[in-house]
Amino acid sequence: KLHNDILELKGNIRVFCRVRPLLPDDATEVPVISYPTSTEELGRGIDLVQTGQKYHFTFDKVFDHAASQQDVFVEISQLVQSALDGYKVCIFAYGQTGSGKTYTMMGRPENPDQKGLIPRSVDQIFQTSQSLQAQGWKYRMQASMLEIYNETIRDLLSSNRPSGAELTRTESGVGKQYTIKHDVNGNTHVSDLTIIDVCSKREISSLLQQAAQSRSVGKTHMNEQSSRSHLVFTLRITGINENTEQQVQGVLNLIDLAGSERLSRSGATGDRLKETQAINKSLSSLSDVIFALAKKEDHVPFRNSKLTYLLQPCLGGDSKTLMFVNVSPDSTSVGESLCSLRFAHRVN
Ligand code: ADP
Ligand code: MG
Repeated sequence: KLHNDILELKGNIRVFCRVRPLLPDDATEVPVISYPTSTEELGRGIDLVQTGQKYHFTFDKVFDHAASQQDVFVEISQLVQSALDGYKVCIFAYGQTGSGKTYTMMGRPENPDQKGLIPRSVDQIFQTSQSLQAQGWKYRMQASMLEIYNETIRDLLSSNRPSGAELTRTESGVGKQYTIKHDVNGNTHVSDLTIIDVCSKREISSLLQQAAQSRSVGKTHMNEQSSRSHLVFTLRITGINENTEQQVQGVLNLIDLAGSERLSRSGATGDRLKETQAINKSLSSLSDVIFALAKKEDHVPFRNSKLTYLLQPCLGGDSKTLMFVNVSPDSTSVGESLCSLRFAHRVN
């Protein structure tokens, strides 16, 4: 009940913060992150120290370095569940490159303990949908996976993507339109995008693998594009109850956003500069949209970026949004971490 009240108050937007563990390559001279221990902020507060100055933030939830993938999933499983009940749900991971976005979203699927939110959500949805069969529910699940790079959509499930080194015209999407349209029922259609009917967990696992592979081809051959693009995994769920003739239509979007690092740090010129500008534009559009929705403003600037336009029907109305802000604990990242926390606080 309390949970619902919070959702209502904030226009269905929640923000979770996750700090990854220190890695061997991290700079460790001074610890820059600490957690307030007062009862009312336990698990919700985070402090960050930059050049002697202490900054304090609170979120709906803060996960420290010790939080496991399961610990995190427990806190979102209800939200995932609501997609089966017919809600439109978006879960984002925001943060600088190396802060743990992909770990949070995808994890290391080859290790069951380290599976991320996408495979865990899919597992749960299939499990629950099967148990609901006894009550007459039949579900159709349709998956798609795309990347938005430089404001251009790329299909990660296209069957004619090259698997090897060669990046062809199809790869870069030449000849494909990928035009975004929303119909009167609030459904989104992206022309030419591969949509796959999935009937089992196993099928989705292999799709995710295929998508990850498509992405890593880009990574080696296109200048680590994966951290420069937004990844959007969408599961469309249509349920019909044969006993009651009730129908539900839910959507679950899981989004691994492009790295949020600022221009100065990436030292960008040429193509890199263009990339960074596109990323900055779409991330600030996302923040503007979420902010406008939270403030219940009349005008929500969905059309300012591909990402917000694509997700428009899943962001407004009675849809539910969760933003993870991923933070790196190392001392050289403190500036970026502060920016990420401020960004998240604005939308919170
Ligand atoms: P991003 O996608 O934001 O660039 P990654 O998810 O790739 O960052 O994380 C960077 C590195 O940190 C990876 O090697 C990843 O496996 C590791 N990592 C991130 N978060 C965690 C975590 N919670 N526990 C263990 N390792 C993590
Ligand atoms: Mg990543």
